[in-house]
Amino acid sequence: MSKKCLEVESLTKRFGGLTALDEISLHINEAEIIGLIGPNGSGKTTLFNCVTGFLKPDNGRIFLREVNITGREPHKIIQEGVSRTFQITRVFPELTVMENILISIRHKEESRIRSIYKKSNRDEIKKASELLEFIGIAELSDQPGGELSYGQQKLLQLASSLMQDPSVVLLDEPTAGVNPTLINKIMDRIREANEEFGTTFLIIEHNMDVIMGISHRMYVLATGKIIAEGNPEKVRSDPEVFEAYLGGD
Ligand code: ADP
Ligand code: MG
Repeated sequence: MSKKCLEVESLTKRFGGLTALDEISLHINEAEIIGLIGPNGSGKTTLFNCVTGFLKPDNGRIFLREVNITGREPHKIIQEGVSRTFQITRVFPELTVMENILISIRHKEESRIRSIYKKSNRDEIKKASELLEFIGIAELSDQPGGELSYGQQKLLQLASSLMQDPSVVLLDEPTAGVNPTLINKIMDRIREANEEFGTTFLIIEHNMDVIMGISHRMYVLATGKIIAEGNPEKVRSDPEVFEAYLGGD
């Protein structure tokens, strides 16, 4: 049997009268790539926010490699090995690409933006260089983050998310607003990280062809509930999934 990397048990999150997540249960095995899809507003980002500690769930539990991480502070959860990217890309425009990737492993409190390079040790710089090489943006190391194209910023975020050898990486729409050539590049790097380093991924993605092409297994959310689970073929042919998208936005 495969070992579970992340497990979510009966997770509920309400915003006032709105139940954004309604007793969600799901799991991700070690070295799996899981696709998470669902219409706008179905609760995908809220799930990420609960898993990463940005939001406190009203009910339910979250386990990372059998450790209960429910309700812990975001920086603790990062230290435990959960890494994420955001739907809205966050890059420091004045820091170089290298500084941006180095700062990703510091907590906000301890980061002194100007001296980030000096504070980083040789191993961290070496790791950052290797990852920039792996992702294919090493030649941009000394450029300010603000000069990167949107797609390059997405690549930088992906590289940053791999800095701490995470147990699991949560990607929120990694290809949104990115041109098709770069989408393929991002997906290839995710696949390669999964195959070479055994990295486990949970990916929110609107582009159906993209997510179905990369996922080992998928979950479908609609109005805060999981309405389907299974391999891409199964999900693709599920009438309830079809209905959710047709009835959605
Ligand atoms: P998705 O990522 O699937 O598009 P979200 O998780 O962002 O959906 O949102 C799920 C629902 O919860 C939506 O109805 C959204 O308006 C609501 N929601 C999300 N975050 C908040 C918040 N911080 N406060 C109030 N309502 C929120
Ligand atoms: Mg979202």
